[in-house]
Amino acid sequence: MGEHAAAAPHAVSRLRAERLARSAKPFLARGGPKGERCAGCRLVPSHCICALRPQVPTRAGMCLLMADIEPLKPSNTGWLIADVVADTFAFGWARTEVQPGLLALLADPQWQPYVVFPGEFVAPERVVTQVAPEHAPNGKRPLFILLDATWPEARKMFRKSPYLDRFPVLSLASEQISRYQLRRSRRDDHFCTSEVASLCLELAGEAQAAQVLDAYLDVFTHHYLQSKHQLPVVADDPTHLRLRSLAMVPAP
Ligand SMILES: [Zn+2]
Repeated sequence: MGEHAAAAPHAVSRLRAERLARSAKPFLARGGPKGERCAGCRLVPSHCICALRPQVPTRAGMCLLMADIEPLKPSNTGWLIADVVADTFAFGWARTEVQPGLLALLADPQWQPYVVFPGEFVAPERVVTQVAPEHAPNGKRPLFILLDATWPEARKMFRKSPYLDRFPVLSLASEQISRYQLRRSRRDDHFCTSEVASLCLELAGEAQAAQVLDAYLDVFTHHYLQSKHQLPVVADDPTHLRLRSLAMVPAP
């Protein structure tokens, strides 16, 4: 611990840097002029969560296909997935081209990719609802492909990515979603990407990692909203206590 701030930037951080470099004009996040944000977590320095970044070993991997603007949003939660799940990969999505690194990842025999998408939009024979180890072919590690985008963008990405067509579609069961929402009073039916990743980890039998990511999202949300409202972080509020109880995160 304590080394996080100096750790090499993860996949989403690198994608954000690449995307920023391609911008014709600087993307101005709400909250202030350039230079005010921590490079490790995108929050203002007074609300930085870098010291709270949990580490939990996972067998599952995450592959984020991100809509163009997604890596630039300070509220993007794909970033949090990459913080927690060591094997997180991130690629910008474009209709007209596919990155060779993505194709290589999808062809890597150590992984069993699953496209996470609602089953009702897919031919039934492609839909799976289980990814526990006993369901995985040849003991491969699950690789969850998450479309990190608004819902209309995600539908387009799903339709126009023929290289995904050969993979099973993991459809999250409605009872799992409603059980999850029960725990989470502040949310409506909108699922952010890191919540979807938590559900995938849970399905993969990685309950601890699922809970840690879930708790980390709550901590991020607290810091993000407090910053937005120009209020200080409450470092011993229930979200911090829960994260600390689940993961070896140092007390303030
Ligand atoms: Zn930070």
